[in-house]
Amino acid sequence: MAFAISDECIACGACAAECPVSAITEGDGKYVIDADTCIECGACAGTCPVGAPAQA
Ligand code: SF4
Ligand code: SF4
Repeated sequence: MAFAISDECIACGACAAECPVSAITEGDGKYVIDADTCIECGACAGTCPVGAPAQA
């Protein structure tokens, strides 16, 4: 299952810079992951300061 970003996101952008397939973009008040592009590497979860990305 792809990763998804919860409402805990503080929109810092750190995860988007780490994603190897550029699946993360800035959304409305938080960042969002394109589930069809995500390869489930977990880099975003390892980078996020608030633990917002999790495997859905
Ligand atoms: Fe990108 Fe990996 Fe996070 Fe998927 S799990 S959004 S591929 S950094
Ligand atoms: Fe949001 Fe975490 Fe990504 Fe920062 S690293 S934009 S807090 S999901």
